[in-house]
Amino acid sequence: MAPVFLALAALGSAAGTPYPANRLAVADPAFERVAELRERPSAAQAKPQRSRYSVTIPLDPVVRGTPQPRILGPKGRPLVVIDAGHGGHDPGTISPHGGTKEKNVVLSVAKRIRDELLASGRVRVALTREDDTFLVLRERTAIARNLGAKLFISVHADSAGEQATGSTIYTLSEVASDREAHALAQRENRADILNGVNLSGESNDVTSILVDLAQRETMAASLEFAKLVRRESAPLVPFRSGGLRMAGLAVLKAPDMPAILLELGYLSNREDAARIRSVEGQQNIAIGLRRAVEIHFAKQMATR
Ligand code: ZN
Repeated sequence: MAPVFLALAALGSAAGTPYPANRLAVADPAFERVAELRERPSAAQAKPQRSRYSVTIPLDPVVRGTPQPRILGPKGRPLVVIDAGHGGHDPGTISPHGGTKEKNVVLSVAKRIRDELLASGRVRVALTREDDTFLVLRERTAIARNLGAKLFISVHADSAGEQATGSTIYTLSEVASDREAHALAQRENRADILNGVNLSGESNDVTSILVDLAQRETMAASLEFAKLVRRESAPLVPFRSGGLRMAGLAVLKAPDMPAILLELGYLSNREDAARIRSVEGQQNIAIGLRRAVEIHFAKQMATR
């Protein structure tokens, strides 16, 4: 992203409008428009400015009326948004071992990750939901983008036969890395359809995700972050073979923000269910993520 940002910074200062750090670093009026609306919602009525230097990138509209969760942590630090999957009338998967609901256990883990990140003092943190609220997939991404998040981590737990165990980190891809990843994306993307969200007005079909130029850069950054999470978590958290997979997950489609979806493990497996429920298991997940997040932003600072 760095060369693009520098070019833009030059453009911005030439026009007498320096780019604040929280601006999106792509020369596209649509991005500008999103950033403008974020700062000044009344601008929705005004005509967007035309730029001679533009590329057209389709963007999902900023969803209006999305909740504005509280942001914790020291001012000026990059914002990490943690997204606990499902919620409300959508329980997610339910464990046959003790009846643990995915929506509850991922919320506990999300809060543990938040607390661990805040203890480091290096980042600010917000949760897409802090209680048993239902959010549609695009609201989750919209919340993070509206807040100007620099990293998005969606937390889920999976379910398969008794045999499947271990964590998996998913990143966005047009083509699923394997059949299992494809099936997982279909399950998670169905959250919206099952919950009666009308997708007919959507510019993109959540089952076949079109990926644009800006998204590709973000996807590469997401994969780098996913590898960091696996490396830093490996001593603490058991991973399913390889630990990394790719799929067309709707909740990961934000063109301007690296994003991963962490499947904590399988609630259908007895040991995994016990690990994901336990304080120690949850703390280990949080520690691995905190280390990866620290390194991710330290690397960004070093290349700036
Ligand atoms: Zn899920």
